[in-house]
Amino acid sequence: MLEILVLIGAAGAIGTRSKQRGLSQVYVVVAVSGWLVLVGLSALGLGFAGLILRWLWVGAVYLYLLRFAQGGARVASRWQCPDCTLFNDGETLRCLCGYLHPDAPESAGRP
Ligand SMILES: [Zn+2]
Repeated sequence: MLEILVLIGAAGAIGTRSKQRGLSQVYVVVAVSGWLVLVGLSALGLGFAGLILRWLWVGAVYLYLLRFAQGGARVASRWQCPDCTLFNDGETLRCLCGYLHPDAPESAGRP
């Protein structure tokens, strides 16, 4: 079922972004459980509106994570990963290659 695959992709993107910002995986849980609730409501007769609503929900959680989520530590500015030379923004504490920024609270040097 295509929708499940898209949901797995979206959950993965939310999880990756949470990890980069040093946040917990709670946003993945919120996005997926909200989606499941709306699937249930769709079965009760919400129909096509339910389809729209559940993807709006997942999108809203992702946007919230990108724009407003607080609590994740951050570094002063854009930085370049010494391992893979990728540029990361100030909210990204862990590079996609796994390197942890030295200013990250849980950093003890190298991961
Ligand atoms: Zn890197």
